[in-house]
Amino acid sequence: MSIFNGLDEIVERDHPLASHTWYRLGGPADYFIRPRTVDDLVEVIRRCNENHVRLHVMGFGSNLLVSDEGVRGAVVKLEEGQFAQTEFEGEQVTAWAGAQLSQLVLDCVEKGLSGIEVLTGIPGSVGGAIKMNAGGRFGDIGSAVESVTLLDSQGGLFEKSKPELIFDYRSVNIRAPFILNAKLKLTQADPEQIMRTVKESWVYKKNTQPLNTRNCGCIFKNPEGTSAGALIDRAGLKGLQVGGAAVSDKHANFIVAGDGCTSRDIMRLISAVQQRVREQFEIELDPEIEIWK
Ligand SMILES: Cc1cc2nc3c(=O)[nH]c(=O)nc-3n(C[C@H](O)[C@H](O)[C@H](O)COP(=O)(O)OP(=O)(O)OC[C@H]3O[C@@H](n4cnc5c(N)ncnc54)[C@H](O)[C@@H]3O)c2cc1C
Repeated sequence: MSIFNGLDEIVERDHPLASHTWYRLGGPADYFIRPRTVDDLVEVIRRCNENHVRLHVMGFGSNLLVSDEGVRGAVVKLEEGQFAQTEFEGEQVTAWAGAQLSQLVLDCVEKGLSGIEVLTGIPGSVGGAIKMNAGGRFGDIGSAVESVTLLDSQGGLFEKSKPELIFDYRSVNIRAPFILNAKLKLTQADPEQIMRTVKESWVYKKNTQPLNTRNCGCIFKNPEGTSAGALIDRAGLKGLQVGGAAVSDKHANFIVAGDGCTSRDIMRLISAVQQRVREQFEIELDPEIEIWK
């Protein structure tokens, strides 16, 4: 009998993850699980704990590189039912983890609510955005967050609110495995002004990033006081290739996947870039993307 007996509608076995990542790469997960409610998720956690199955959570895979061999254990994706909701109440929105960030930005613009328009052009889910403190030169999601609802590794529900939440550069001090939702505090503003910011952000992205390619956004975090892309560029690595993976000519901190590319190609190219930057500048580049080996 399957360990997920009775949960067949939300559990798939040996499910390929490639179609769930922006790189379109990655092997299968032993179990791929899409709960529709918090109760579903709590039950999944219980069964995994009972059967010593390792749990991983993914958003929309825009910051993830999954190995060609895939992932042992269970991968949970919160994208359906309750997890896709957003609830507006005045200047506050409760956004569930599986809501699409770009749609949330648009909904806020439409309602004349300012605070997250600076996230224009960042793909992914609300859960992924909170975990990564998604943002850029114009601001990040953390500054709009009032509180988050979380599930711990035993399926216990709890909340963490503003004074306890420390958002930093592409990180937040959330150790609980599941972010269920976030309450964002926005402010009423002139929709035309908000729209102008949206347009400026788009133009900036379009001019600086290889948007029509298979990529994962910035590969490396910016080291203190400098830009990873500038270092890679100065090391002459734009266009460097390993198999089907190449350092983008447009933005040196992007690695794009071409025909026949594998996750291994990207991992080897990441190592090659790190090595060349280390040799030339004595600086260690830390990946911003999450790698599931
Ligand atoms: C073209 C492009 C442009 C990008 N531009 C930017 C940018 O300007 N700024 C920026 O910050 N990022 C950028 N990114 C990276 C990426 O979009 C963000 O990091 C995004 O927030 C990741 O969201 P996701 O849902 O895809 O998360 P995933 O990639 O699926 O996961 C990222 C991490 O979040 C964790 N996670 C996801 N959901 C949950 C949850 N519910 N509970 C707990 N943990 C969870 C995962 O385990 C993983 O560790 C870009 C990516 C692309 C492809």
